Amino acid sequence: MSNVLVLVGIFVLAAFLIVLGLGLSRRAQRQGPAEDRPDATGIASTTPATRARPRLRDRLAKTRATLAGPLQALRIRGRVDGETWDDLEEALLLADVGVATTGRLLDELRANALQLAASEPAQVIELLKAQLVAELDGDTDRSLTRADAGPTVWMFVGVNGVGKTTAIAKLAQREAGDGHTVVLAAADTFRAAAAEQLAHWGDRVGAAVVRGQEGADPGSVVFDAISAAQARGADLVLVDTAGRVHTKVNLMNELEKLRRVAERGPGVLTEVLLVIDATTGQNGLAQARQFADAVDVTGVVLTKLDGSAKGGIVLAIEAELGIPVKVVGVGESADDVVPFDPVEFVDALFA
Ligand code: GDP
Repeated sequence: MSNVLVLVGIFVLAAFLIVLGLGLSRRAQRQGPAEDRPDATGIASTTPATRARPRLRDRLAKTRATLAGPLQALRIRGRVDGETWDDLEEALLLADVGVATTGRLLDELRANALQLAASEPAQVIELLKAQLVAELDGDTDRSLTRADAGPTVWMFVGVNGVGKTTAIAKLAQREAGDGHTVVLAAADTFRAAAAEQLAHWGDRVGAAVVRGQEGADPGSVVFDAISAAQARGADLVLVDTAGRVHTKVNLMNELEKLRRVAERGPGVLTEVLLVIDATTGQNGLAQARQFADAVDVTGVVLTKLDGSAKGGIVLAIEAELGIPVKVVGVGESADDVVPFDPVEFVDALFA
């Protein structure tokens, strides 16, 4: 009897170990290679040589489903009728394009479809695609501008949690990889963790990090960082700013003050980049409006497009605020940053 119990015990233990082993290996597969996982700083490291630049199309898999799903359902319908337009409107609204932009796009699309006698849903969808590309791909300058002389300064603004620090880290790695000497300014002196995260990243890419005591004047951190860059011959200063202070008015005043410090020299402020979390949809647009009213925003860094973002927010930001999306974040790894390419983006949404 006791032998039977021992055998049963061994069997149960072996089954437990097998199940545990399978679980761990699946988890490791889901998380990808060890070096790609975020560490305590929230930023994953990668070996540049082993990772190619991410493709927007691959990373937008979840985002794509919002628009491509309903469009596919439309495509297999026989003809264009009143329902087609209702469904198109619903698809665009669900994709976060926003009421005003959706209305305008559909008015234009109707006129185009009529003019070209497009009678099949597939034709109308192709017209919509071309219209979105034309809308985004005009003569918008999406480059990150640099100064001719003196250190270039790019300031990053946005509410906490949108991915500001991560975006700075990713761009620092990219710029350092391209041969630039980067200084990071930890001007969010309200959150010790933000400065820690930036300091950690600075170590990794070999960028000097200038930080102050918790509660120190953010303006002095920016000034010190630009002076340090000038002294070391560094050509790029990336400024992380607070996403929250006591009140919204205080925050906007603080950012405006920082912008003036950054403009005073010896550096040249060429970009004020608003970081928006794409998964927050129309909320992100409301945030963008507040920041754009307070500081002269030159471009948007749209993060988390790899997540459950609906994608249409890109159109809403550009159409309603007139601010170009310049860079997009498509993951938590250090390499997960790509310049925004409208054609690739629209292709990815419709694929
Ligand atoms: P901050 O408060 O604006 O500085 O935000 P953080 O940079 O600390 O980022 C907040 C969270 O968003 C962290 O968990 C990041 O890993 C995550 N995150 C940032 N960018 C991206 C992105 O492009 N994709 C995904 N999936 N997560 C991101």
